[in-house]
Amino acid sequence: MKKTTFKLLTLTLLLAGFSACKDKAKNSTSTSEESGEVVVNVKKENFLTASLVEPITIVSKEMSDGTTADCYKIVASGTPSEHEMGPWCPDNISDDASKGGVWAVDGELYDIDGEFIKNLGNLLGDDTWMLYDKETGEITKTKTKDECNDAANPNVGEEYKNYCVECLPSYVTGMSHTYYIPVTPKKAEKAYKFLKGHPGGGPNDGERPERPKDGERPAGPPPGENSTAPSNRGIAFNGVVFNAPAPVDAILSAYTIAPFDDAGGHINLHEGYHYHAATGVSKKIAQDDNHAPMIGYAMDGYPIYANTDADGNEATDLDESRGHYDEIRGYHYHVDKAGSNNFIDGLRGVYAL
Ligand SMILES: [Zn+2]
Ligand SMILES: [Zn+2]
Repeated sequence: MKKTTFKLLTLTLLLAGFSACKDKAKNSTSTSEESGEVVVNVKKENFLTASLVEPITIVSKEMSDGTTADCYKIVASGTPSEHEMGPWCPDNISDDASKGGVWAVDGELYDIDGEFIKNLGNLLGDDTWMLYDKETGEITKTKTKDECNDAANPNVGEEYKNYCVECLPSYVTGMSHTYYIPVTPKKAEKAYKFLKGHPGGGPNDGERPERPKDGERPAGPPPGENSTAPSNRGIAFNGVVFNAPAPVDAILSAYTIAPFDDAGGHINLHEGYHYHAATGVSKKIAQDDNHAPMIGYAMDGYPIYANTDADGNEATDLDESRGHYDEIRGYHYHVDKAGSNNFIDGLRGVYAL
């Protein structure tokens, strides 16, 4: 009897030891042999399972540097499980800010209330802007899936001039997005730059990507530079993508606005719900040492942190990708200001092809 108990205990200990090792391999902090720098593995438990379509698995993927590596396969619904989506466009110029989202003008993020819509012409210095009915105060906005699709078409022309464009969650139900993020981030020889514009989307993706002029080839990587990174910057813990900058100039030049909600996201029919600003609404992981909270992972597996630390200060030593290094977090990024229509400026690590 005693012997059996002992055997069982040994087995249990062995099993515990084994799973501890396994966990260590996937979750731990290690030190890079080449650089001596601390490298922190992606922690799949950080992702909110309620926002995922299936459990996260590990698959082997070809990487941007020609190697293969274990990557987490993350299949996300694109619907945040920890916060509401919307609202985007208020209904009437008498509405307060709770009825609208936010919009970035010249690097500044504005709360959208009725007053904002009313004063848009003044703010933008162009009195062609008239997004509401002067008699009733009703704000002109897209009201159906077709209208959201049409208002986003770059060739739609005058018909949707002076529209507040919003696409609702009900237009994009049943979507899923698959992302591959390396379990162990690895520095690339040189940082990857992002292409300018919104290359992920087609003409009807809800926004107007910047297009090269006739006869011009799309901008490739400058000679001698590393090749360019994918358009997605990374993903939040709720599986919502940190997208390329919204083509704000093109949107404004058509006398439309396509507001983000208070979480910094909006919807297009092609990509579903996606973020253009980190406003601190999605899940964040606080740090013990006053450092900015963690808000997600970049496509290269390096973690992404908020813009400012607990005292409201920005990091002053960021590299060309908006990243830097410390002994606790290893290499990591800090997102740009919420009104900048930008997250990070490049990928410092290799990413899955
Ligand atoms: Zn967008
Ligand atoms: Zn930092």
